[in-house]
Amino acid sequence: VAVINRIAAGEVIQRPANALKELIENSLDAKSTNIQVTVKNGGLKLLQIHDNGTGIRKEDFEIVCERFTTSKLREFEDLHKISTYGFRGEALASISHVAHLTITSKTKQDLCAYQARFVDSTLQGAPKPMAGNQGTIITVEDLFYNMNVRKKALRSPGEEYQKISDVVSKYAIHNAHVGFALKKCNENNDIRTPQGSTQVENIQIIYGNTIARELVEFSSENERFQFTAKGYISNVNYSSKKFNFLLFINHRLVDCQSLKKCIDQVYSTYLPKNTHPFVYLSLELDPNNIDINVHPTKHEVHFLNQEQIIESIVTDMENKLLSSSS
Ligand code: ADP
Ligand code: MG
Repeated sequence: VAVINRIAAGEVIQRPANALKELIENSLDAKSTNIQVTVKNGGLKLLQIHDNGTGIRKEDFEIVCERFTTSKLREFEDLHKISTYGFRGEALASISHVAHLTITSKTKQDLCAYQARFVDSTLQGAPKPMAGNQGTIITVEDLFYNMNVRKKALRSPGEEYQKISDVVSKYAIHNAHVGFALKKCNENNDIRTPQGSTQVENIQIIYGNTIARELVEFSSENERFQFTAKGYISNVNYSSKKFNFLLFINHRLVDCQSLKKCIDQVYSTYLPKNTHPFVYLSLELDPNNIDINVHPTKHEVHFLNQEQIIESIVTDMENKLLSSSS
């Protein structure tokens, strides 16, 4: 059973950046306004996330790591109404099967913080009282220590760190009201966005002045297909070898290759060959129209009226580019 659980967990958590995405979403669900990430060896040695959210009650430590236990879903039917990020109750359980997991947390009500370790979904001993501020520290050590093949399949720590940095950057821009920080252990912050800054300020902090100077605000909506899209896109004066595409659908960081392709196509008329724009889009759809991926590693999203919605977005984008370049 342990091996089967480990394999299943390895499917959910494929690399440090996947684990981090789940942990950031948990911190956001807990209404944190400050999220700090610390990493050692590309997240393989250490991946730690420190938030100032609601915290976990001492009596809930017992269950947070059990598979499919979640405080966010009372009824299965709620699946379609879900507004928080988490709904599977699998992230912490999965992490505990493939890494050494320690949780330190304090709620507003509790007088002190509590700390506990988890192995294969199970709490080890009673949570230990200790000093601490309100919020949660999730410490993930030695990721894939028991999955040699997976560990070897991962690329360099540098590359894993790059992916981690990418995840933090995108969440920091989407959730500009929340302060984010990312650093390697014992080093200075690589990313730091202040609490309460704007999305444009954060784009500037993270992606630099060159992009920030050439941004235009974008919005698009359509009643018939029930969507709204908002964001910031680079104008025709900006181009880059890399396509920086930040897509959130209902506040979840996702991929949508068809949308990405169509946007790139719109820009290709205006940009030098083989160069790409910067596009940050927050798309909101009726949750009932999204194909909720029960499999958490598939970040690729499908939704109802996808072609029409994409068509509508790129048409508005093209008009925006034309009007801002004239
Ligand atoms: P899910 O997010 O799908 O509920 P997780 O395994 O990600 O499942 O988390 C399990 C539970 O642990 C959550 O429902 C929540 O109650 C609690 N939890 C996890 N992370 C945090 C956090 N940073 N702050 C407060 N509670 C948390
Ligand atoms: Mg979660």
